[in-house]
Parts: sequence; C-alpha cells; structure tokens
Amino acid sequence: MKEFIQKAAFSVGFDACGFAKAEELTDDAAFLRSWLDAGMNGDMQYLERNFEKRTDPRRMVPGCKTVIVLLLNFFPEQVQNLHSHKIAKYAYPETDYHYVIREKLQKLEQKIADEFGNDCFASEFQHSFIDSAPVLERRWAQKAGLGWIGKHTQLIAPGFGSYVFIATLMLNRELNAYDEPIRDRCGTCTKCIAACPTQALQPGILDARKCISYLTIETKSEVPEELKEKLSGYMVGCDICADVCPWNKKWSVSHLHDELKPSEAILTWNDDDWERADGEQLRRTFRKSAIMRALKNQRKV
Ligand code: SF4
Ligand code: SF4
Repeated sequence: MKEFIQKAAFSVGFDACGFAKAEELTDDAAFLRSWLDAGMNGDMQYLERNFEKRTDPRRMVPGCKTVIVLLLNFFPEQVQNLHSHKIAKYAYPETDYHYVIREKLQKLEQKIADEFGNDCFASEFQHSFIDSAPVLERRWAQKAGLGWIGKHTQLIAPGFGSYVFIATLMLNRELNAYDEPIRDRCGTCTKCIAACPTQALQPGILDARKCISYLTIETKSEVPEELKEKLSGYMVGCDICADVCPWNKKWSVSHLHDELKPSEAILTWNDDDWERADGEQLRRTFRKSAIMRALKNQRKV
C-alpha cells in the first residue's frame, strides 16, 4: 500500500511523500499550550480552537491510523523586480496554492480509492488537509521522515529545503512500517535568528506578533508603532529567515510545476506600480492569487 501510494503521489505531481503512525503529539501539545498561553499567536484565535484535535489526528478524524504527508516544492526560478514591494515566494504563483494542492489531492485520493476502495480513508467526508493546522503539519512531516523543523520553525526537507507546501491525508489502515523521523541538523547555526529584522525568533519559537509574515498576512489589527519602520517595503510575507538558511542555499532548486507559474505582475511590478494600483486593479490582477487574503486584511481591496 505504501509503495503504491508513494508512486501515485509522485505521478500526480507531489515531490515527496512519507508515512507516520497516527498518535497523540504529546510534546507538541505541551509546546503549543505554552506558546498560546504566552499569547504568541497574536490574534490568530483559530489556533486556540479544537486544541485536542490539533494535537491528536485521531480526534480530528476518528478512525485515523496513518498520516500520509505530501510535499510540493514551490521555490521559484525567477525573482521579483529588485525595486518592488516584497512578496514572499509562496505567493508568487498566479493561482493560490490551495487550489493547486487540492486538485492534486483529489487525483491522488481517486487513485487510492480505485486500488484499495473508498473505505480506506479515515473519514467519508474530510480526510485531507492543507494548512489546516500550520504548526502541526510540520511535525507530521518530520515524523514521516521528510525533514526536520529548523530553528526558524519551518520544515527543512533534505533535497528541497524549506520552500515546500505540506498537505496531509488520513487513512484508517495501519501500515507494517512507518518512516523514521530525521534528526535535527541545525547544529550550532543561528543565522535565521540573527537575520530576523524584528527579533521574532528564538530557537524553535516564533513570536508571531513580531513576525512580518503575520503582520502582513494574518492580522487585521494595526501594526504596532515600533514595528512599522521594519515593515517598510514588505507587502506580503517575509522570506529572510529562510533565505539565509545554509540548507536552503544548498538544497533549494526551482520547482517544475506549471500550475505554480508565477504571476507576471508579482515578478515585474516596481514600487510605483504597487503604490499606484487601486483596489479594483489589485482585485483584477490578483483575483486567483494567494495574496488576495493579505490584501483584504490590509484593507487594500
Ligand atoms: S519571516 Fe521574517 S519576520 Fe518572520 S521570523 Fe522570519 S525573518 Fe523574522
Ligand atoms: S539558518 Fe541555521 S539555525 Fe536557522 S533553520 Fe537554517 S540551519 Fe537551522
């Protein structure tokens, strides 16, 4: 079953596929609790809801015995105009990656269902997820042998680095063997922590309230006065801690996914273009893009 699913995952375009036994993530539950208690989630209250489900997939999808983890490389070949408001690489594609991954998951589920029957999924309804539990998807990827979680709190996948999307698929079948987690290879490096312009990072801990990604994408609240200057030039997200990571320099290779073709505007617009664009133009240009959510939160559209 494992071999079949792995081959099927590659055939629909995923770049990596690993398998982990579904169980409670005890250490992560303790960490998540203290992170939430410290208020580091800012106004992402959705991370406080369904705590038990987030830390145990068997509570999220009753009957779940195996978590399949899938990676999709999104490291782009091209870079933005150097004189442009900055957009994080995950948002370069013309089409929001959620749609791209959802389509791949549907194709994969169909192949699995054709081979093993519809009843091998952990739920008749929702059994696959993209970005539904951001912290823990990385942990599942680590457990499934696909990488380790770096001090910048992102997954680092050997052969790809950290510019990867993560999706999960839950099965109600137990497998004979699961993948072995990969050991942490950050060692004594602290480059990401030193490079973060807002001091949002401690080793393995991200204070989202200070992170440019959170401040430009997630929050609808006013940016704190002391951070406004640091955000200058950042439109959507931030890649600094990932860009400085030696493993990304070693492993990041351009993706080969036509579906993740970058938006022409994101590559070519300069600062003036961004400043001039009104709500209507932004809506028209980026209607299918992942940046729409951030633009809405920033009340630009
Ligand atoms: S994304 Fe940017 S602001 Fe956030 S932790 Fe990384 S370097 Fe710091
Ligand atoms: S920059 Fe260094 S410490 Fe940070 S994630 Fe990469 S290897 Fe780990």
